[in-house]
Formats: sequence, C-alpha cells, structure tokens
Amino acid sequence: MAPPEDTIAALATPAGTSALAVVRITGPEAKRLAADIFGLTPLPRTAHRGDYRDQAGLLLDDVLFTFFAGPRSYTGEDVLEISGHGNPWIVVRLLDDLYARGCRPAEPGEFTRRAFLNGRMDLSQAEAVMDLIQARSERALAAAHQILRGALGRELQSLTDEIVGALANVEAYIDFPEEDLPEEDRAGLRRRLQAAADGAARLLATRPYGDLLREGIKTVLVGEPNAGKSSLLNRLVGRDRALVSAEPGTTRDFIEERVIVGPHSLRLIDTAGLNPAPAPLEQLGMAKTRECIEESDMVLLVLDSTRPTPPLLGSGLASFDPARTLLVLNKTDLPASAGTAAPPGWRSVRVSALSGAGLDELGTAIVAQADRQRPADNPDGVTINARHAHALLVAQECLCQALTKLESGTDTTLLASDLRGALAALGEISGKIDNERVLDLLFSSFCIGK
Ligand code: GDP
Repeated sequence: MAPPEDTIAALATPAGTSALAVVRITGPEAKRLAADIFGLTPLPRTAHRGDYRDQAGLLLDDVLFTFFAGPRSYTGEDVLEISGHGNPWIVVRLLDDLYARGCRPAEPGEFTRRAFLNGRMDLSQAEAVMDLIQARSERALAAAHQILRGALGRELQSLTDEIVGALANVEAYIDFPEEDLPEEDRAGLRRRLQAAADGAARLLATRPYGDLLREGIKTVLVGEPNAGKSSLLNRLVGRDRALVSAEPGTTRDFIEERVIVGPHSLRLIDTAGLNPAPAPLEQLGMAKTRECIEESDMVLLVLDSTRPTPPLLGSGLASFDPARTLLVLNKTDLPASAGTAAPPGWRSVRVSALSGAGLDELGTAIVAQADRQRPADNPDGVTINARHAHALLVAQECLCQALTKLESGTDTTLLASDLRGALAALGEISGKIDNERVLDLLFSSFCIGK
C-alpha cells in the first residue's frame, strides 16, 4: 500500500471546554501550513509561540506549535501539533480554517494507521496504542507498554524465523523430486516445527489473561440473601451504590461497578443472591446469578459468619470452583462471628463490611487471586487479544498439519503449503501481509486524532 499523499487534521484532545486543545496535522503540507499561518519556518521538535489567524485575518488563538519532520515523527510524515486554548468554538474555527487551507478531516485512527503504513510500528503495536489509551489498571498499562515496545513483534519474529528456516529446508528439495530429506534434516525440520508450534501455544495461553486486563476482571459477589453482598460492594466502590436492606433478596437486578484493587481493575457485579429456599420471583434471579458465575473470572462468595454453618458452606460449595472462588466471611464485628470457618482447601478472608475491618486483606487476596491467572512461562508479560488468537490458531493448525505429514512420511515438499499458510497467518498479526479489510476494522475503533 502506497503511503497517503494528502494532509489530514483533527483535534487530538477530547471535545469540550478544557485548559488546552491540541490539533494535529500530518502530511506533506504540514511544514508549508506552519509557514503560511505563523510566518516562519519552524525548527523541528521545538516549541514555537504564535498567533493563529484564519485566512480572513481574524485572530483565533495564541498558541504553541511544534513541528516534527518526517520520518522522525509519530506518523513518519511531517507533523504539526498546535496546542491552543480548550475552547470548542475556537477549535471548530481553527479546524475549518485548516480545511480551507487544503487539509482533510482525519478518519478515526488515521494518524496511527499512517504510522503503521509508514513502517513506524507494526500492527500489534498500533493496537497497543489503543490498549494504552484504554488501560484502566497498572497491569493493563504494563501489558500495553510491553506490546508497544515490540515484545509481541519479537516473539512472532522468532516463530517466523523457525518457519522460514523450515520452509527453506523443504524448498531445497522441491527441485529434486526423486530424493527425499535425509533423516538428520527431517529431525531438524521436526525441531523447528515443534518450536514454532510450542511458541504459538505459549502465546495462545496468554489470551485469557489478556482479556482479563483489557476488559477488567469480571468478579461476581454471590452469597445468601442478607450475607452483606451489597454492603461489601459499597465498601469496595467507596460509596453507596447498591441498596442495603435488612430485607433478604433486595438486589434483584445486577449492579456492575468498576473498581480498582491494587494493580487490577475489577468489573464488580452484585447478584441476586443464592437463596437455598427461593421464592418463585427469586428463582429467575438465581438462574441469572448462576449464569453470571459461569462467565466470571473470579467469585467472591460472601457468607454471614455469625451463622454457625451457612448452607452454602456445606454441599452448596460443590457448585463453585475453588481456584476461582474466594470465601468472604462477613460480619466479623458481631460477637457470634467465630462460628464459621472456611473448609480446608478454600481461600478465605474475614471482613466486616460495616466497620471496614479486613478490607485491606481482602484487597490483597483479590490481587493474589488475579495474579494467579497470569500465564506462567511468559517472562515478557506479552498478552494477546482476540485478533491475534484467531491468527495464531490458524498458524497452529497449519503447523500441526505439517508435523502430521512429516510423521507419516508424506513427500516432504507437500509441507511447503502448510508452512506458507502458517507464515501468512503470523504476518496478519504484525500486518506484514497487506489486508485492507483488517486495517479498516482495526483503526475504525480508534478515536479521531489518534
Ligand atoms: P445482601 O442481601 O447480601 O446484599 O446484604 P446487604 O448488604 O443488603 O446487608 C444485609 C444486612 O446486613 C443489612 O442490614 C446490613 O446493614 C447488614 N450487614 C452487612 N454487612 C455487615 C457487617 O459486616 N456487619 C454487620 N453487623 N452487619 C452487616
């Protein structure tokens, strides 16, 4: 794809009244525009001060502007950034003036798309720009930075190198159909293919944790009515969000709140509760609760610790997965609270949603629980997304087919098409294979100005 030739402009900061508004321009006209508008040839990477006057001579704003000469810029082209006052009316006038001077309004993600097209970053890095903008927790931020710095690109490169090596090996024999690979070459080929397949599997295993970081950890609060789920949600959120009532079964509809716990972001969901003896209306809510538990990453099972043996601690526990569940023994401020203890093999924390006691310990336990889902054998902390997973599955499938053919003694040259298939799939992740449709889909989810 040839790099675009037109010059685009957009507001790069949110619309609305603010202290500053940054308008970004990229393309071959950026330098001329700076000279025309401000009457000077800007020094690259230097902040200049200037009066922005529109073509009719009206003074719009007193601004700072910075010129970045391509290719050493975000997009790889000449870029001009104008930092002015955050007045939406000024911004509209200023953009209209830029359009009148020959710029075109930028599409969503078009700056980053150009960065990709000009080889400033691969596609996985372009996606990481989006992850960075949307990161809502320390861990999500760290994961985005890793990919932005090319960690996924490097891992893919090493898989690609193995496959290219294998392909070279195979193709060397295409011109000699009567001969086949000697056993030592076969063993080398097998090693390469297995290494690539293992690498793909290792990356695929990071998907659940990647989803967890990007979307937030789906955490459900469950327990019997009146155990204190809503009180605990309010505690964790830091304000009264859920209705707390001495009447059992007050939370019929689910409440979802985002909460930051240490380095993680949680999507905390308060459910209808699990009543061992439900009223008819409650049954529907309980079915939904069970569905929610199935789809969750983590369950906080809240129990009233003043009750000697809450039914959910008995046979009711069988429906929970101990690896994903944390028992929260609530109401420890009450004298009778010593009655309940967690059974062996279950992680538990004692808290009082009323007084706040034990909340720090609960936070620590939640973080430990979330971090346990971090894939082992992943020193760089690379996590993949759905698009990467799709491509890696295709690559894995191709590699499996190649390995099967190798084992069954099929003519070695027949492996070549599988290996090319695997390479094409990996190429889609980094964007080395041109695919306009993938680019359209990916960049349309960006903001304008990015
Ligand atoms: P839910 O039905 O599980 O959501 O329970 P709620 O949060 O509505 O609480 C039920 C009742 O228990 C309310 O009267 C709360 O004030 C009370 N409660 C909740 N947590 C505690 C606690 O830690 N200590 C005490 N003493 N009462 C609590």
